[in-house]
Amino acid sequence: MDKTIIISNRLPVQLQIINGAVTATPSVGGLATGMKSVHSGGNSLWIGWSGLTDEEIPEELSADIDKALKQHGCAKVKLTQNDVDGFYFGFSNRTIWPLFHYFLEYSEFELDFWNVYKSVNQKFADAIIAQTDENDTIWVHDYQLMLVPQMIKEKRPDAIIGFFLHIPFPSYEIFRTLPWRDEVLRGLLGSDLIGFHTYDYERHFLSSVRRLLELDVSFNEIYLENKVVKVDSFPMGIDYKKFSEAAKKHSKSPEKNHTDFQKKLDEHKKFAPNTKLILSIDRLDYSKGIAKRLNAFEYFLNKYPQYKEKVRLIILAVPSRSNVPQYQLLKKEIDELVGRINGELSTINWTPIWYFYRSVPFENLIDLYTSSDIAWLTPLRDGMNLVAKEYVATRTDKTGVLILSEMAGSAYEMNEALLINPNNFEQQADTLKRAITMPVKEQMARNMFLQNRLKRYDVEIWANEFMGALNGQKSAPKTFVSQKMTEAILSDIVAKYNKAKKRLLFLDYDGTLAGFHKDPQKASPDKELYELLDTLHHQKNTTLFLISGRDKQTFSKWFLHKKYNMIVEHGVWISRNGEEFKFLEKVKGDWMAKIKPVLESFVDRTPGSFIEEKNYSLAWHYRNTDPDFGTKRATELNTVLTSLIGNDEISVLNGNKVMEVKSSNVNKGRASMRMLGEDNYDFVFAIGDDWTDEYMFEELPKSTVTVKVGMQKTQAKYFVESTHKVRELLKHFTE
Ligand code: UDP
Repeated sequence: MDKTIIISNRLPVQLQIINGAVTATPSVGGLATGMKSVHSGGNSLWIGWSGLTDEEIPEELSADIDKALKQHGCAKVKLTQNDVDGFYFGFSNRTIWPLFHYFLEYSEFELDFWNVYKSVNQKFADAIIAQTDENDTIWVHDYQLMLVPQMIKEKRPDAIIGFFLHIPFPSYEIFRTLPWRDEVLRGLLGSDLIGFHTYDYERHFLSSVRRLLELDVSFNEIYLENKVVKVDSFPMGIDYKKFSEAAKKHSKSPEKNHTDFQKKLDEHKKFAPNTKLILSIDRLDYSKGIAKRLNAFEYFLNKYPQYKEKVRLIILAVPSRSNVPQYQLLKKEIDELVGRINGELSTINWTPIWYFYRSVPFENLIDLYTSSDIAWLTPLRDGMNLVAKEYVATRTDKTGVLILSEMAGSAYEMNEALLINPNNFEQQADTLKRAITMPVKEQMARNMFLQNRLKRYDVEIWANEFMGALNGQKSAPKTFVSQKMTEAILSDIVAKYNKAKKRLLFLDYDGTLAGFHKDPQKASPDKELYELLDTLHHQKNTTLFLISGRDKQTFSKWFLHKKYNMIVEHGVWISRNGEEFKFLEKVKGDWMAKIKPVLESFVDRTPGSFIEEKNYSLAWHYRNTDPDFGTKRATELNTVLTSLIGNDEISVLNGNKVMEVKSSNVNKGRASMRMLGEDNYDFVFAIGDDWTDEYMFEELPKSTVTVKVGMQKTQAKYFVESTHKVRELLKHFTE
């Protein structure tokens, strides 16, 4: 039976070796909870690092560790101390983490880190390949393992692989500074589905793929040579029930049962009943904006001094990555800031900031959430921020105000929170005041919406939705209208070809017989192509047509001496057997003088684009422009042209990175049908790669063998992946 495989840097269990005995206890983190429904039933395996390096694992305990892990459906990847230093503390936390959180100045581009990252990703991939079967479904987690999808796909082309990024994906402008940007993108594109927390991260990723790898992207699908990668956003939720039920239990528990921590908070409330508690909880990370928050708090107290002695800020900073130098500096900065602000503003009765540098057990977390009037979370950049969601989930009486940075992924779903820009102190001070004075009714109204959403889209739904979409990818090729040209289909077609008495072939040129070039004139035929076309052209009982949108001058130069039959400008001109081109279709060109200035204005405003002037059509090419910008301009041009044209005489064709304006009565469908009518053909074949070829696929009779180059939606019956495959296919006709 096919299994589900989960891979993350760390396993969801804590290993301990005490007096030579190994124990494994499940961890309670959000991811582990969310994956419960995926990682259960004995038909799944979670692969990751155990948290102990090879140096820390005594040889004789290795088997015991495997056994302990197996009981929790887990298997370990072996890592040395050197691996962990270079891959985790190095590349993951000193290169990717700062870069993806827009801290470009903190990103270290160290070749050594990168090399270890690659080799450790390979170790993960090898572990997966060793422990999985052909048809297993694989879910890879997070930024530590971005190369793993491609590494698995190389060995397991049929495996279905999902990848989820738990941190932001930065704008292209940031991402492109990474020296190994192409390798990282290619690594991720080994997946069949890539998930992000928000639509913005998804958008940034697609933009990088388009610009750096020059791949075709349509909506949220990326077209690779042999597959389609789907990209989508799945905002991660929390274990809502766990937090709300803990809070309910907490509210019902008598005072004497309160934790020591809660007793201190109770004392504070008794002593100063009108003081508002403002809570912030973060890992001690520069992306969380703790220092800025402290400064903003000081600013607030100076702007609104009436709140001195009336508010208290509780900062819980959880130690994190303390062996990375940036984090040590940050710790020092925050220690000093808290000391200075408290030193300057404290009174005998009041310390403005309570600062805890530690992690607290779950029950104390609940104490803090439920006792605080305001949660103030101001990350400068945060993939999601679960603390915001947890705070809201614990507000069982629906009171409490959440102030949240708009730079956190969760802000996209938490519109009813007070959203702030963490760099705007003025706004923060005013928002704190607003939160302190917010009527209870308003607090409840806001939290009701927030809670309903969090309850519905909890972490389990998140995991299930991702798995659902991933399983959907198993059948994804069926969403193509056409069928992949397999060996079996091809041999069937070749048999028909050989049996036929009269054959008619229509071959598109650009993107079909030859690849694209930045300069269209450079995409001239090579020796191999001439040989192939010669053989086909001279075959008995075979009529071959090159059918193209190109102008007749270019095709005369390239092919007239070869005497191939040619139809150019989509069907305006025809040449047979080496004769000069003649009109195939009567067309007018008087509209061209009016349309040309419009296209020229687009050329002026779109660097890299240019006009190709044909005898009876005008084409605006944008292959060499910035892909996002080019597509945007094409949409704009389309709108302008359609409003200008307003009659049926001329029409606009959207080709592959080209928009062509031409007479409406001319297209490849009409031209190919006219050729078909000239004789009794019993084998008709048409192949092409873009919109203009769809006219042939649509109009030629059903019995025609129609083939699309590339994996876009099409009316053709079959598809092949590349121009290389086109030539392979045609060679079969010559054997
Ligand atoms: N948390 C914890 N112990 C603590 C403080 C916080 O386990 O002492 C948890 C908190 O409940 C939340 C997580 O740490 O689930 C922090 O997640 P978030 O998305 O806010 O930030 P991250 O640390 O992932 O950047």
